[in-house]
Amino acid sequence: MADGLLKDGIVPGRLSPDQYAVNFADLHPPLDRHEAFVEADRCYFCYDAPCQTACPTSIDIPMFIREILTDNPLGAAETIFEQNILGGMCARVCPTEQLCEEACVREAAEGKPVKIGMLQRYATDIAMEVEAQFFTRAAATGKRVAVVGAGPAGLSAAHRLALHGHEVVIYDARPKPGGLNEYGIASYKAPGDFAQAEVDYVTAIGGITIETGKALGADFTLSDLSGSFDAVFLGMGLGGVNALRAEGEDADGVDDAINFIGELRQASDLATLPIGRRIVVIGGGMTAVDAAVQSKLLGAEEVTMVYRRGKEQMNASVFEQDLAAAKGVTIRHWLAPRRVLTDGGRVSGLELAYMALDGSGALKPTGETTTIACDQVFKAIGQTLATDGEGVELAGGKIAVDAEGRTSMAKVWAGGDCATGGDDLTVTAVAEGRDAAESIHRFLSGQ
Ligand SMILES: Cc1cc2nc3c(=O)[nH]c(=O)nc-3n(C[C@H](O)[C@H](O)[C@H](O)COP(=O)(O)OP(=O)(O)OC[C@H]3O[C@@H](n4cnc5c(N)ncnc54)[C@H](O)[C@@H]3O)c2cc1C
Ligand code: SF4
Repeated sequence: MADGLLKDGIVPGRLSPDQYAVNFADLHPPLDRHEAFVEADRCYFCYDAPCQTACPTSIDIPMFIREILTDNPLGAAETIFEQNILGGMCARVCPTEQLCEEACVREAAEGKPVKIGMLQRYATDIAMEVEAQFFTRAAATGKRVAVVGAGPAGLSAAHRLALHGHEVVIYDARPKPGGLNEYGIASYKAPGDFAQAEVDYVTAIGGITIETGKALGADFTLSDLSGSFDAVFLGMGLGGVNALRAEGEDADGVDDAINFIGELRQASDLATLPIGRRIVVIGGGMTAVDAAVQSKLLGAEEVTMVYRRGKEQMNASVFEQDLAAAKGVTIRHWLAPRRVLTDGGRVSGLELAYMALDGSGALKPTGETTTIACDQVFKAIGQTLATDGEGVELAGGKIAVDAEGRTSMAKVWAGGDCATGGDDLTVTAVAEGRDAAESIHRFLSGQ
């Protein structure tokens, strides 16, 4: 047992160096050539392909699986990238069990879908490894488009715009591009600096400049952009975090799960990252699961996720919930935070109210409470738009867009997490960025 394992408080170095490496290794090791053939051979190549219908980017799944089966992984990669230029990251992070693999006829027939995500990763990894580029830019149009945010939505939009011959400048507030692929996705889903390798792969098409450390609202305004570019795409995600509204939430040891995950993703040595011995994570989504699982992997002894509603209402998929349980995280339902307990200004526990639905279906405290002792609390209760929209119309706290991604402001489009419609998933952001780029292209070419 490493020395730090049972230390109270928030301390670094709970594990031995070997243990960190084991814990943060690839969640699903890639398929080798033989495994890929065997898996591809399970596909029925359905003519109506329900898997393709379920994919938000509509990748021709039976086609790319057939290409793998005929030992043509580069052809398969081209089929994938035609629809989804971030197909490599999506192969790693998509909740396939809720999308293509849930729809796979083999799932219905035998409860064992074709491993579409793993096959997609097999093909795209080979293409990226040999730096195969499948797309050539159209002749320069002389039009310039500004993209705000270098996350999945912005990168996907930029690639499609560059393909059509437009010149793109991406502005991102952070020091590195990639958005949540770089700062949010759990380390064990995309190890080895994959997010930056993908940014390089996407921008290799040419015609795309990325300017990091430049924030809309601080360094320039939306009207600056629409004044100096022919069109603007907003893909700035959700940078704000909801407040807990529990007494004592400012105490030392209460942190945002997103910040914790971002620091973890950027840490060059995981042994330097401090983590509590007993952790409570508040929330029921993917961010809560990622924070809880990664706390456990960093050596926290007890990790409890608390969610104010039941298992069925959790945003985290069943796969994610099972992963958390398998890693030793306890998930408790129908509990809402009421008060952060402190000892000398530091967190010592969390008081929670039991919740239930009343006769009208409204969520109400039952009047009973419980306490969980802990030295660190992570808030993972949803994100919000960090800006006031800079003059574009909002709906439900997001930028209002139509079916093509057009905002209320002329020449300005939006997509990904910051815009209305769609689930907050990487693949949805890619689809929305791509489709908004097509709409911008039609506008710029007078169609
Ligand atoms: C912890 C966590 C884990 C997740 N795990 C998964 C997963 O496993 N699978 C999955 O499918 N989805 C997952 N998601 C959701 C997924 O990451 C998002 O849906 C996706 O990244 C949205 O892409 P986007 O381009 O809209 O926004 P983002 O990825 O948030 O990118 C927005 C970019 O805009 C920049 N920006 C923000 N404000 C400004 C500004 N004012 N000026 C300039 N730049 C700005 C940001 O720096 C960022 O680079 C996860 C999300 C979180 C938070
Ligand atoms: S539904 Fe399943 S079996 Fe049918 S084409 Fe898609 S992956 Fe193949």
